[in-house]
Formats: sequence, C-alpha cells, structure tokens
Amino acid sequence: MEPLAHGTTSQAIQDDPGDLAERYNIVEIFHSVQGEGHRNGIPHVFIRFGKCNLRCEWCDTNFDEFEIMKASEILSEVMKFECKNVIFTGGEPMLNNLWPLSRLLHNRGYHLSVESNGTIEIPSGLLDWICISPKDQLYPNVSIKQRQGDELKCVYVGQSLELYDDLKSGFTHHYLQPCYDENATVEENGRSFAITEGVVKANSGWRLSLQTHKWMGIL
Ligand code: SF4
Repeated sequence: MEPLAHGTTSQAIQDDPGDLAERYNIVEIFHSVQGEGHRNGIPHVFIRFGKCNLRCEWCDTNFDEFEIMKASEILSEVMKFECKNVIFTGGEPMLNNLWPLSRLLHNRGYHLSVESNGTIEIPSGLLDWICISPKDQLYPNVSIKQRQGDELKCVYVGQSLELYDDLKSGFTHHYLQPCYDENATVEENGRSFAITEGVVKANSGWRLSLQTHKWMGIL
C-alpha cells in the first residue's frame, strides 16, 4: 500500500510510480529540532543523505555509511512523525535527483529545506528554503554554483569575510557560526565562540549562529 499523509486518502494523492521507486543513499532519518541558523528551534524531520563531493577537515558526519532506500520507504519513515517540516542534509543532498522526493512530500504539504555546500545549482521550485554553507575557506578553487537562497551560513575559522562579498547579496540572511569541536574542551570551544562573536559585532550584516544542539551536548 502506498504511503498516505496523516488524514489523507489514497484517492486524494496520485503518486507517480517512478517517483515512489526512485532510490537514494540514506544515512539516517530522524525527528529533531533545528539547532542552528534562521530556522533554529523549529522541529523538523531530518533526512541525511550519503556521499559528499567535499571533505572538510571539521566534518563530523559519517556520510560514507548509508543504506539505499526507495522514495516510498523514505516517505513512510517521514510520515511516522507529526511534523510537516523536512530538512534535506548530508553529506551533500544535491548530489541526488531530489525531484521525486520533492513531489511526493510537497503533494502532502511538507515544507522542504536544504542544507547544501552550494557547489551544485538548485533548480527553482524544488525546495522551499535554501541554506548554503560554502566552504571557500577550505576549497578556494571550488566555485559556488548556487548563489541565491534564503540563508548563507558560514563556519568561521578565521577566514576573511571578503570571501563572501559577491555572494551575500543573493541571500536574505547571513550567519557566521563558530566551529564546534567535539574533541575540544569547553574553554577551547568558548574561545572559538568569543572570536566569532567579536567578528559579528565588528561586521554589520552578519548574525551569530550557534549549533545549540551541540553546545547543549545533544550530538
Ligand atoms: S560539505 Fe558538509 S558534509 Fe561535505 S565534507 Fe564538508 S562539512 Fe561534511
């Protein structure tokens, strides 16, 4: 039986069989509260995709271990939660053809966000909230293809903010985020926070984003 949204009937939604059969590399699907950026504090269902086209030194996601799931299976997992907000994260979600999943979820009234490194252009209409977290400070030769969106979220590790001069105008919100190191002491992470806070105070137009879930010990 095909997945139905809460309170819908099989007659209400006609899914494309090809959409339901699309396969994705999935690390995990879980229900939590967004802990960073502009949508901080809003409950979401997170769909974490496997694989990434970058290898950032601070990356704490094991995106190389995943299982292959059909879109119909992903939909069933998502619909277990009483939550209409979904975040596609990774890894790099834009390595996937997200159209089938987008159609299945949009047809059921879900709000779709993405967290992407920006190296792959995002088609118009695919998603409802675009958060780009560029990694220019590590990969100066990797060009950012997605230059418009709702949120530009940059991990601050001492880089010049001039890196983002050309990019900022395409985004509504601009965030700097200290790099939280799970292996560092509270004091060391505190220093990283204080430095980023100082940079935000000295540079108008930027706001501070904290990975509140990590600072609270919810890793
Ligand atoms: S782009 Fe994101 S997921 Fe990919 S390696 Fe960097 S931090 Fe990890």
